[in-house]
Amino acid sequence: MDATEQAELLHKADLALYQAKAAGRGTFSFFDEATEAQLKERRQLAADLQAALDTEQLSLHYQPLYDSSSCSLTGYEALLRWNHPVRGNVPPMDFIPLAEETGLIEPLGLWVLRRACADGASWPEPLTVAINLSPAQLVNANLVGLVRQALADAGLPARRLELEITESMLMSNTEQVLSQLHQLSAMGVSIAMDDFGTGYSSLAYLWRFPFDKVKIDRAFTQNLESDPKVNLIVRSIISLAHSLNIRVNAEGVETSQQMATLQKQGCDELQGYLLGRPGPVAGLTHNSQVPPSESPSRRQHGASAHDSIFAELSAMQPPGVLSTQR
Ligand code: C2E
Ligand code: MG
Ligand code: MG
Repeated sequence: MDATEQAELLHKADLALYQAKAAGRGTFSFFDEATEAQLKERRQLAADLQAALDTEQLSLHYQPLYDSSSCSLTGYEALLRWNHPVRGNVPPMDFIPLAEETGLIEPLGLWVLRRACADGASWPEPLTVAINLSPAQLVNANLVGLVRQALADAGLPARRLELEITESMLMSNTEQVLSQLHQLSAMGVSIAMDDFGTGYSSLAYLWRFPFDKVKIDRAFTQNLESDPKVNLIVRSIISLAHSLNIRVNAEGVETSQQMATLQKQGCDELQGYLLGRPGPVAGLTHNSQVPPSESPSRRQHGASAHDSIFAELSAMQPPGVLSTQR
């Protein structure tokens, strides 16, 4: 028996209805304990996330981005981290969708924007800082005002901020979203399309908005060597983007072979564990060249992790090819 009290029975019937609706039209569903436990868990996580916003549990890690031909550091992508007091590190893919569902993404996104602008302003020119935007932030009619205010408060020039959006954001409210993107772009902020190639209508969006950069999803990078079709697709993306005057970043570069292939194909920017893992702001050195004898303990994250690779590459290239943009 599922319930003996009226209120409990109604509550459980509600849960079954919720489950049936989630499964689509014309279905039915019985109450089950597992769904109830899952919902309880999500509610708890949402309450914890609200608390995390008011305490010191959230932080930004920064992953370095490199210019592919000069092998110089161009900036960092800010990636949100949640260190939960009991669960430990909760991956963004677990809590960002939850923040979107509960509306917490607004204060969370604003916190990321302001923190990243403040951190970025402390780095040497012309290093840039990129942040990921959620669809909910883009449909907020005041996004342009919030970005302008965050830049002014941090003293960061607009040209050093990049906003990463995904195709799904352009699928709804297109006119309003496009209008906000145009205003941000006119201010000098760069707009990048993240996870390019994983959606299903990317080409129409490339046509409708003048993106500064597309970021090829790491699924492509990681199959570059094993599948000739992927190799061909990546080459075509680079060629298409370049003919539209759009720069190309490849995400998820993990091997020197992938890096060499992407360089050969003319990809403009590289990002991935091979070059540097995301790390806390305090550990960033902003150097793109450190002697190969650098102690391994300094090569844990951020800009120092890649240095031995660039040192090796510099040995293969004419002198002066490697530089640090400072
Ligand atoms: P993303 O924006 O595509 O970020 C790249 C993800 O790939 C990051 O995962 C990064 O740690 C990971 N990555 C980088 N290089 C490599 C590599 O070589 N190999 C592998 N396997 N992974 C690599 P992370 O930090 O877990 O973030 C996942 C996603 O969560 C992000 O994907 C982004 O969509 C979202 N996210 C992260 N921070 C924020 C934020 O502040 N706001 C919003 N709205 N979304 C965020
Ligand atoms: Mg991103
Ligand atoms: Mg991505």
